[in-house]
Amino acid sequence: MARQRPINEKSASVRIATAGEDLVRVEDLRKHFPIQTGFLATLLNRGNIPTVKAVDGVSFTIRRGEVFGLAGESGSGKSTIGRLVLNLYEPTSGRVLFDGIDLSSLPEEEMRRMRARMQIVFQDPLASLNPRMPLGQAIEHPAQIHMPEFTAADRRKQVLEMFHAVGMNPPEAFYDLFPHQISGGQRQRVVLARALVTFPEFIVADEPIAMADVSVRAVLLDLMMKMKEEFDLTYLFITHDLATAKYVCNRIAILYLGKLCEMGPLNEVYGNSAHPYTHALLEAVPVPDPSLRRTEAMPAGEIPNAINPPSGCHFHPRCPLATAICSVEEPLWREIRPEHFVACHHAEELLK
Ligand code: SF4
Repeated sequence: MARQRPINEKSASVRIATAGEDLVRVEDLRKHFPIQTGFLATLLNRGNIPTVKAVDGVSFTIRRGEVFGLAGESGSGKSTIGRLVLNLYEPTSGRVLFDGIDLSSLPEEEMRRMRARMQIVFQDPLASLNPRMPLGQAIEHPAQIHMPEFTAADRRKQVLEMFHAVGMNPPEAFYDLFPHQISGGQRQRVVLARALVTFPEFIVADEPIAMADVSVRAVLLDLMMKMKEEFDLTYLFITHDLATAKYVCNRIAILYLGKLCEMGPLNEVYGNSAHPYTHALLEAVPVPDPSLRRTEAMPAGEIPNAINPPSGCHFHPRCPLATAICSVEEPLWREIRPEHFVACHHAEELLK
């Protein structure tokens, strides 16, 4: 049984989407960052300012109650998408609908209230906690912003409940400690508690266990999944690690150089990948039995520069299946099996 969000008449907490319906809809999202260049370069470019196409025409939906994975190498644009989805960045074009509401259309005050429904958990808990703020205050801070009508006593009770929920017991023992006085795994629990204190419906988890000790990663993932049930959450789970994604995600999208190359239910993508990039990423996932060592590694070469991406299919310089058409024509995004989408001219050659 999921916890009930505290009654807060002023909050934008009316839920429209029910389990399985779209909670987040991302439509043709683009984010191009201008590059700072000198006066001479700008003059030579005739005033055209070069841009990094961090996100370039991405569409997907996240259903209420699911864990939607977004995976790719460093520099693929996945963290930028996480911030765009939360309206922390303004898109260059395209839009994000949360529970049917276009976030870019919301006045500032309504967006502020909407933020109580959507939170983010960052990769580095130490960097995302104020070193001079006691842990209790850090967790309480979002409640002060989003639940101003609650009394200080109510908020303290709420904070203690959050400590308890994330397994930091007895809660009173942690309230006045500072981030440097607890372990890395405990810091990640505090960050999760801080995200939960407003009873959000949606959490962007941006590489949430990447900086944790290997020994506590599985414990933290289990905790996140427990919180999902307890708080009736939906996650956008951002990761570079397909082994971790396999552990938690219902559906997954693979990102390469700001574009989606494959998306589908987890078992379908993992068992039947139809894009050479996904295929290579999966081949690079470590296996528990050393006698089953993988013969292929990550795709050869570096991820290209997003200022000047390769023509046609962006993956063609690294792709073992590339043919002449691949460097000329961008592959269409198409559904090759139910709910399984891919952008590759030769997808059928990889299907089992
Ligand atoms: Fe490789 Fe061509 Fe498919 Fe791109 S379109 S992934 S280059 S086979």
